[in-house]
Amino acid sequence: MKTTKISWTDRTWNPVTGCTKISLGCANCYAEVMARRLKGMGKKKYENGFSLTLHPETLNDPLKWKTPHSIFVCSMSDIFHKDVPFSFVDKVITTIRNSQHHNYQMLTKRIDRMSSYFSERPVPDNLWLGATVESHLEVSRIDKLKRLLTPIRFLSCEPLLDDLGKIDLSGIDWVIVGGESGVKARPMKAQWLRSLLRQARKYEVPFYFKQWGTWGEDGIRRSMKKNGKSLDGKIIQMLPRPKMSRLA
Ligand code: SF4
Repeated sequence: MKTTKISWTDRTWNPVTGCTKISLGCANCYAEVMARRLKGMGKKKYENGFSLTLHPETLNDPLKWKTPHSIFVCSMSDIFHKDVPFSFVDKVITTIRNSQHHNYQMLTKRIDRMSSYFSERPVPDNLWLGATVESHLEVSRIDKLKRLLTPIRFLSCEPLLDDLGKIDLSGIDWVIVGGESGVKARPMKAQWLRSLLRQARKYEVPFYFKQWGTWGEDGIRRSMKKNGKSLDGKIIQMLPRPKMSRLA
């Protein structure tokens, strides 16, 4: 059963919450807004608001979920934030290894720290690794991601803030793209999206267009629901196929 509104995954698991901003994509961080709201509602887990907080009491939660899920790890943080000790990430990885009936997705803007962590440890075969590439200023994260041996290397280009230009998607297994939502949302132009789609097709990389967000395909501001998720009249939401041979 799906328990998150994030369309490309089934559910979230947050053994870490809170974060600090690192690049342009963070400006209107959804996790920050949510954390503050949950604190205001008196939720104990969010008593520190958006300050980085470890939640060791949640480390075993996925072991209790008997139905297989795709699980996005740390939707309310970045697990490779400098203040998350590698000894804590080790515990997260142990749970991942011990729950082979699930597959997990870790996404970071701190690709150097993710690379450093996995340079000394193998990636579990049920863990997909991703990098956020929201603007042309961050395309160097792509090459760093390519060096990691994981069944799926994915890019999250959300919120897409400009034209990424010409990029080499060889070795990338999935591209997720989305526009921003909320009061301060920045518009995503259709030509940036089309350029990315063209390049994904060239490299035969499954492409998943999540939604327009607050600004529509026609550049008009309206509700996210009304703006929808189609590009040039089509919904494109492809899923990747894990490359287990990469781990052999
Ligand atoms: S890295 Fe992610 S969670 Fe952290 S501030 Fe940026 S958008 Fe928010």
